[in-house]
Amino acid sequence: MNAVVTGGAGFIGSHLVDALIARGETVTVIDNLSTGDIRNIAGHIRSGAVRFIQGDLLLDGWQEHVAGASRVYHIAADPDVRASAANPEGVYIRNVTATVRVLEAMREAGCTEIVFTSTSTVYGEADLIPTPEEYPRMEPISIYGGTKLACEAMISAYAHTYGWKSWVFRFANIIGERSNHGVIWDFIHKLRENPSELEILGDGKQTKSYCSVSACIDAVLFTVAHTKAPFTCLNIGSEDWIDVTSIASIVSDEMGLPGVSFHYAGGDRGWVGDIPRMLLSIEKLRSLGWRSEVTSEQAVRDAARALVRTRGDSF
Ligand code: NAD
Repeated sequence: MNAVVTGGAGFIGSHLVDALIARGETVTVIDNLSTGDIRNIAGHIRSGAVRFIQGDLLLDGWQEHVAGASRVYHIAADPDVRASAANPEGVYIRNVTATVRVLEAMREAGCTEIVFTSTSTVYGEADLIPTPEEYPRMEPISIYGGTKLACEAMISAYAHTYGWKSWVFRFANIIGERSNHGVIWDFIHKLRENPSELEILGDGKQTKSYCSVSACIDAVLFTVAHTKAPFTCLNIGSEDWIDVTSIASIVSDEMGLPGVSFHYAGGDRGWVGDIPRMLLSIEKLRSLGWRSEVTSEQAVRDAARALVRTRGDSF
């Protein structure tokens, strides 16, 4: 297969690239390196396994590289939920406009398969937990979540109008080596600056599901291989959850800082648009035959250990 991966130099995108290369696929990465890091895929570029196009989806010049692709994995986005309230129009353009430009490039090139990375935030503050894909009241409470739901709608519309296959994955929190944002990264960053105190946003009781990036990529590729509807929409996450104070304890422990004192900024959530309780139902994924035994706690510990070890020098 010839795969195009937008955002392939980023955290999740680069792990996807690793998996595609391991399967012997030909991969073209299109990335503007706004939050991605070329080091994440440098080995593949050097070996000739990846063709890297430094391009911005909001500009022209990359579309010709979609020609000949059998599938586009559209991973590129502005993924920062917390910052999305500060510039809603910019986030809309970086997420929705960029996605429609990818869909148009595919239509022009005759490419008929797209995989899209959506998010649990499309559900908003769901009152049904674990939240299934069929949850009826889609009411995003963050600008980021709103833009992702709009992307999902456009992907469904293109797939049905032009006879494509599409896969939309609603991710819980995905964590692991190379991650460049999120609560674990944030705690490590803060503790590098001040190893004795840690400020925790909210009351520390926010409780969510965390999934390792390797399990996430495995579930994505498994689903794509086992489904073929015009529009397949699936949750991916762990089957349990963990609260923020426990994450802070694990990170402190992995950094060898047992005496850290935690201070809470207060309130029931970390920021405007934060969802205090999130657990996705992954029954649909399980019914396809996919299994992972990794708990949220184990995923957090593994991710903290990997980040402390590999990126310590960049903090
Ligand atoms: P990331 O910032 O590491 O990856 C995004 C990549 O897209 C980066 O390499 C960036 O340089 C690139 N990019 C952004 N805008 C671009 C543009 N206009 N043109 C070309 N490249 C561009 O973030 P991530 O955590 O790896 O997220 C990947 C995807 O997964 C995103 O779509 C995000 O919304 C989604 N997602 C992530 C999580 C998570 O927990 N990390 C959860 C749910 C959904």
